[in-house]
Amino acid sequence: MTSSFKRPDGRKVDELREFEAKVGIVPNADGSAMYRSGETIAIAAVYGPKKMHPQHSQNPEKGTLRCTYNMNSFSVSERIRPGPSRRSTEISKITEWALEPVLMLDKFQNMVVDVHINIIQADAGTRCAGINAAAMALAHAGIPMKDMVSSVSVGKLDKTIVVDLSKEEEDYEEGEGPTDIPISMTHSGDITHFQLDGKIDSKQLMEAVELAKKSCEQIYEVQKKALKDSIDLTGGED
Ligand code: ADP
Repeated sequence: MTSSFKRPDGRKVDELREFEAKVGIVPNADGSAMYRSGETIAIAAVYGPKKMHPQHSQNPEKGTLRCTYNMNSFSVSERIRPGPSRRSTEISKITEWALEPVLMLDKFQNMVVDVHINIIQADAGTRCAGINAAAMALAHAGIPMKDMVSSVSVGKLDKTIVVDLSKEEEDYEEGEGPTDIPISMTHSGDITHFQLDGKIDSKQLMEAVELAKKSCEQIYEVQKKALKDSIDLTGGED
């Protein structure tokens, strides 16, 4: 991929921000994980499966995945009003849709699996970071899964396709303005979540999806290592 476009932080167009993952960070939860991409930090904690209350919300066919996304008041420089918002409700729903396809919820009739996602620090890409943390936390909680889910935001800045947009890039106003495309996919390559904010033609969209695929592969390796390390630690070896 060649381009003369310069990203504000000097990254290559296909370069993720520095990122890391850790599993098992909330002792009281049944499963937990942290995912950081640059200045964006997400923590996910899983509670359950447990009986769904109230009873009329129970699904006798399968368990329910209930995600709650929350951006902490202090996660951005100007304090955000605490509590749910339209945005947090939308992202909670999207997170459920991104993760449900890999979960074997038919084993948990009438039960609920609660996933609480907290954004401790936000510099764009928080829904993707939250999904990455939640997928690891669900695996850590021992919820049966067919595959892992990895998530990244790709976009178009000044006609150039780039990966993992920072807040500064999301606010880029040159030309048509930025296009932001958060995508989540399984390791086997099935897209479970796709959003598009802005304009893009079909050729560049295909390029963006390819870039997301390549980036999710890198994220998957880090998620896998974090999960493996958590098992090694509980084994008490070394
Ligand atoms: P995402 O975080 O998934 O990219 P958005 O595109 O809605 O989702 O938000 C982009 C970024 O804008 C966030 O990561 C955060 O840095 C900032 N942001 C979002 N909502 C607010 C808010 N209410 N106050 C201040 N900054 C915000």
